[in-house]
Amino acid sequence: MNAPPVPPLLTSLWNETRKAAAGLVFAQTCALCHAEGAGPSVPALCDDCVRSLPRLVDPCCRVCGEWFVGNIHGPFRCTNCADRRFAFEFAIAPFRARAGLRDLIHQFKYQRQLWLAESLGRLLAQAVCGPHADPRLAADDRWVLVPVPLHPRRLREREFNQALELATTASRQTGLPVVDALRRIRYTTGQASLTRHDRLENLRDAFRIRRSWPWSRGGLSRELEGRWVLLVDDVFTTGATMDACARIIRRKTGATRIAALTLARG
Ligand SMILES: [Zn+2]
Ligand SMILES: [Zn+2]
Repeated sequence: MNAPPVPPLLTSLWNETRKAAAGLVFAQTCALCHAEGAGPSVPALCDDCVRSLPRLVDPCCRVCGEWFVGNIHGPFRCTNCADRRFAFEFAIAPFRARAGLRDLIHQFKYQRQLWLAESLGRLLAQAVCGPHADPRLAADDRWVLVPVPLHPRRLREREFNQALELATTASRQTGLPVVDALRRIRYTTGQASLTRHDRLENLRDAFRIRRSWPWSRGGLSRELEGRWVLLVDDVFTTGATMDACARIIRRKTGATRIAALTLARG
């Protein structure tokens, strides 16, 4: 039997309290090298560790964002994308899921280090504003941040949705609103071990548009009318999850553009 859902306001108050308390304890040392004096721009990391993060630089596929080695000039579409059509226009990630950043994401998600949300969200926001911003996300107030949802059962296991936490920090940094418009109705396990076909099958009909109130018709789909949706998650691997989210938004809302933003590219 399912446990009754925790009211979202209480969950978010509890998570904010945990973040504040943990921040007081951890703020003085770098989460990667444990040196004293974490930096002001990314509170959990010292300046050296920020500089050593594996930044994703061109040449990258203009659709899936995969990074390539070699002499490639100008925009290109990689061979992985040539034989498939994603429901989103393009995917952007400021970093590769390697070395220190992979450790940080792991601490954040699986060791429940919620206090890292502030730092990781700021790193995510670098794709939208600042010197490393991607020109395709140039400041435009039509963009809204839509976090990839967790299934309620997974949310109870993890206690927070990493995508919503990242989007909330990125919203403070960029001024773009967060619309928590999706819900996940299929509990999926072990996506990584599945073939591409089974992964897509597993995600078929996994998402729905959330209703803002039980009696509201159309729910949050109306809030996305005419908006540009930026789906947010921590890591982009095959794109199957982002594609499934983009598909339901395309079918059920009036959003006019859909793109994907993750902290890292797997
Ligand atoms: Zn450090
Ligand atoms: Zn590609």
